[in-house]
Amino acid sequence: MQAAVLREFHQPLEVEEVQIEAPQRGEIVVRIAASGVCRSDLHVQEERSPVARLPMVLGHEGAGVVEELGAGVESLAVGDHVVVALFGPCGTCGDCRAGDIVSCMSETRQNNMFGLMPDGTTRLRLDGAPVHPMVGSGSLAELAVVREAQAVKIDPEIPLDQACLAGCGVTTGVGAALNAAQVTPGSSVAVVGCGGVGLNVVQGARIAGAARILAVDTQATKLDLASDLGATDPVHLAQGQSVTDAIQAVVPGGVDFAFEVIGKPEIVAQAFAATRSGGTTVMVGSPPSGADIAVDGRLLFSDRKLVGTLGGGNVPQRDIPRLMEFYRQGSLKLEPLISQRLPLTQVNEAFEALVTGELARSVIVF
Ligand SMILES: [Zn+2]
Ligand SMILES: [Zn+2]
Repeated sequence: MQAAVLREFHQPLEVEEVQIEAPQRGEIVVRIAASGVCRSDLHVQEERSPVARLPMVLGHEGAGVVEELGAGVESLAVGDHVVVALFGPCGTCGDCRAGDIVSCMSETRQNNMFGLMPDGTTRLRLDGAPVHPMVGSGSLAELAVVREAQAVKIDPEIPLDQACLAGCGVTTGVGAALNAAQVTPGSSVAVVGCGGVGLNVVQGARIAGAARILAVDTQATKLDLASDLGATDPVHLAQGQSVTDAIQAVVPGGVDFAFEVIGKPEIVAQAFAATRSGGTTVMVGSPPSGADIAVDGRLLFSDRKLVGTLGGGNVPQRDIPRLMEFYRQGSLKLEPLISQRLPLTQVNEAFEALVTGELARSVIVF
């Protein structure tokens, strides 16, 4: 099967023939119909991601149709439409058994994160040598072998080229608003950084019933899109302008919830300073390892909260069906997030679009 393989950091992906092995116990084969290309894919290519293990089949925002079942798989059948989630909890560690599956850091999940199956091997081979599927997904490929726990069944009427976005960007953004921040009805929200994930924080805030949603970005096109998706106040940030000033010019005294969706420590601090006393700042973006975030201690000497989230606190089997229901009802919009659809052979164009940062999402369709 054809897959987009990263053989060396800082090099383009190569679309090449990868051999696939039969699914083992608790695993399934998914024929991928579509896969979004996310900033975390770019981070692997740029040697900035802790989950990189080369050679690697990139992609972690896929949806498709179940093609084959390994032994013991009971929750899925051949032909089911599924979204491949960012992670699959192990289901058996103390955290999972206590219902806190977001905290699962079992060996199974750790292996998943580094592109391995629970037994520490992979089902993909390139010239006889193992290839790692990114976060156990590797969805920029015609086929993916994933754990049953990582695949979430969805309504077959939902187009797979839109549903795939629930694999990462949409779940992370909406989850940051609903799970991590628990945005309240009538509140004021500022979303700093309106790319693929930030736009979904905007949607999550709207679904939660926020009264004011400030979309903050330096690019006018992204602000237009944010307005279409529910932002009430587009805030065009001038080069060098402080995020704090820009937000407080619109909501004097500060917002109830601020989201940093870029991954820059100084912007996290500015977003934090833009919240009112009692407000919550969620860092959704991924800062470089070792980055210090320096906040004004006097502002923290209050009831302000600064919290982190990994992937929006998502529980795949709970949140992906919930997102699909929002979509069905019309409150979650997916099509406007898709800037371009490309065949796998043009996958590198999707990565170039991430570098320039002008597009919301590129989706590879098979
Ligand atoms: Zn992602
Ligand atoms: Zn677990």
